[in-house]
Amino acid sequence: MFCGECGTENPNTNQFCKNCGKPLKKTQPVSAPAQPPVISPPAAPVQEPKKPSAIMKHVLAIIGLIPAIAAFFVYPYVLGIIAIIIGAVALKKKSWLGALVIVIAVAAITVDLFYLQIFPPPRII
Ligand SMILES: [Zn+2]
Repeated sequence: MFCGECGTENPNTNQFCKNCGKPLKKTQPVSAPAQPPVISPPAAPVQEPKKPSAIMKHVLAIIGLIPAIAAFFVYPYVLGIIAIIIGAVALKKKSWLGALVIVIAVAAITVDLFYLQIFPPPRII
């Protein structure tokens, strides 16, 4: 049967959806197979086709946002490269947020480069 919440197909023995954990509703009693109903209202809405959870797809990119933004403040190269790698993996999983992570990380590294040019570290003479 299909989950009424997320549309995931579950074994008929499952009481709860393996994907979202919502209880699965039995739409038809098992014991009355061949009784034609006199009035047939639509018993259940048409099951929606299975679709990947939009949030789950972007989880990796959202995780990558953390080092990307932190790279503006501390360790721009280390955190920036970490964020770029995470963003690239997220992009491979077709999450457009991965591109955003890469852009932010590159921006953090670029800002740091320009910052060092405008405000060079004090030299010991
Ligand atoms: Zn479900």
